[in-house]
Amino acid sequence: MGMRVTEGIEKGLFSKEVARDLEEVCGCGEPLYISNGLSRVYCKNLECSMRAFGDLRGKQGLELWQLIELLGIPELKGAVEPIFSGYSSLEGAYKDIESGQVPFIARRLGIEKSGGVALAFQVYKYIIVYKQFIERELAEVLEG
Ligand SMILES: [Zn+2]
Repeated sequence: MGMRVTEGIEKGLFSKEVARDLEEVCGCGEPLYISNGLSRVYCKNLECSMRAFGDLRGKQGLELWQLIELLGIPELKGAVEPIFSGYSSLEGAYKDIESGQVPFIARRLGIEKSGGVALAFQVYKYIIVYKQFIERELAEVLEG
């Protein structure tokens, strides 16, 4: 996975301050990417000798949901912000998710009254499936 720097900026995942300093294109002409976990900017061109590795850690001041959004998990598209916004730790978010389960997800997504149980169940399932992946990918950022 991973995402182009340009895409991250367009999605508003960086503060204006950080976005202004970010290089979007490598010296070799290839677009630059943001690593999973958002710790680095890198060039995918294996032949590239100009690879611009920038350390983003600690600079971005992103919220938890924005970090998760950056992982680009397709099954959680559109669900990350409503579910994780307001949380500053994965532990706290997962505590509520795992104790509240599907009704909690439905409430966060605002679909509990519109018969969205099936959708909420799907989202809940994938949040649990991806738990370890998210923890692993964000570990370096959240600790740093
Ligand atoms: Zn390059």
